[in-house]
Amino acid sequence: MTSAAGVAVVGGGQAGYSVVSALRGAGYVGPVTLFADEPHLPYQRPPLSKNAHTEQDAVRVELVPESFYRERDIELRLGERVTALDTAAGAVVTGTGTRVPYGHLVLATGARNRRLPVPGAELAGVHALRSLDDALAIGRTLTTARDVVVVGGGFIGLELAQVARALGARVTVVELADRLLSRAVSAQLQEYLRERHERSGVRILTGVGVRGIEGNGRVERVATDQGVLPADLVVYGIGAVPRDELARAAGLAVEDGVVVDEQLRSVTDPRISAVGDCARHPHPHADGLVRLESVQNATDQGTLVGRRIAGSPAPYRSLPWFWSDQGAIKLQIAGLRTDTDEMLVVPGDSPERLAAYAFRDDRLVAVETLNWPAEHLAARRLLERSAPVSVADLAGSTLGALARARRSAEVRS
Ligand code: NAP
Repeated sequence: MTSAAGVAVVGGGQAGYSVVSALRGAGYVGPVTLFADEPHLPYQRPPLSKNAHTEQDAVRVELVPESFYRERDIELRLGERVTALDTAAGAVVTGTGTRVPYGHLVLATGARNRRLPVPGAELAGVHALRSLDDALAIGRTLTTARDVVVVGGGFIGLELAQVARALGARVTVVELADRLLSRAVSAQLQEYLRERHERSGVRILTGVGVRGIEGNGRVERVATDQGVLPADLVVYGIGAVPRDELARAAGLAVEDGVVVDEQLRSVTDPRISAVGDCARHPHPHADGLVRLESVQNATDQGTLVGRRIAGSPAPYRSLPWFWSDQGAIKLQIAGLRTDTDEMLVVPGDSPERLAAYAFRDDRLVAVETLNWPAEHLAARRLLERSAPVSVADLAGSTLGALARARRSAEVRS
């Protein structure tokens, strides 16, 4: 399918990049324009919270070099924010007042970090972490910081805490909930992760709120409801919200994310799709609509929509999976752990390894592993094929062993 007006993609992250790359990969020949409000070429976000970044790293995180877009005739409009959608005329309007017509529009606007709602959050030395510029700003102080306070015991907080610890800083994580990663992983893994972080020397305060950040122009202390912590660097990661305001202003259905159908088309306007962190969509592994914040989801959804526009439609069915590197801890998740009714926790063959299996109606739906990539991969293979695994199947076993046993039974029969 081609259109004289072509495809406009709003958002230059992993999802937007995946759309334009898949469009050309699938043979789409119409005009393709990618709008990004950041000035950088599309880059990978996962490394940003896993290392201390310097200016030289900026190129290293780029997804592909500039020549990739040039050779494929993909127009990059970097540093150009789309400020409005004219869905009746089929055009985007940018901050410079330019109107660009589209035949199909893809929203890949991602999510924005919640701001820390306390006095002093604007002091120098206090950072959120989402963009490359945020990572570079943190990187400039991280190597010399002595006291680092991390607000939020989620993925950003725990990854960054280990980076700071490895550089020799005294690190305290302040989490408002009474557990780390309280929504993201099972209670069993939360305890284990806490113990691991504490053993590495990171101080963890749960059930503690931040009241304010103090200092003379630059952060010096963090006031919590259980005392004051010295700090020369504060990084906060207290969750993200979808950037769905363009869609809302244009009258599209929005419910904590742009509401789309199983092919990721807006339920209001079939000329518009939404992909990645900003999309709320049906999923065969979930009851009702979900919004997933992960690289896997951004990549697979972007690719699916690029291919659909190029003429090969398919419903979105990718198995959700996720990873987080927290110093020596590699956490991996396969599947979705919503509404599970039984958890089975199995230690691996070394003290560093652990797996937690989640079941719904005695059927495996998600697996969380620590430092056990082979078991994570076995989980992905079984869950992708919807192979039934019950609690009894796993008694005294692992998914890796179960998959091997099933394969040899198939060969014998
Ligand atoms: P997150 O993983 O949702 O964690 C935020 C944490 O902060 C939650 O534990 C939350 O508790 C807590 N919190 C909320 N308000 C707080 C407050 N006022 N004071 C202290 N703690 C508070 O979000 P994130 O770490 O900010 O990450 C943002 C996004 O980046 C997410 O989409 C995440 O998945 C993504 N990311 C992914 C990776 C990866 O793929 N490995 C790495 C980094 C970031 P409640 O849950 O109780 O609200």
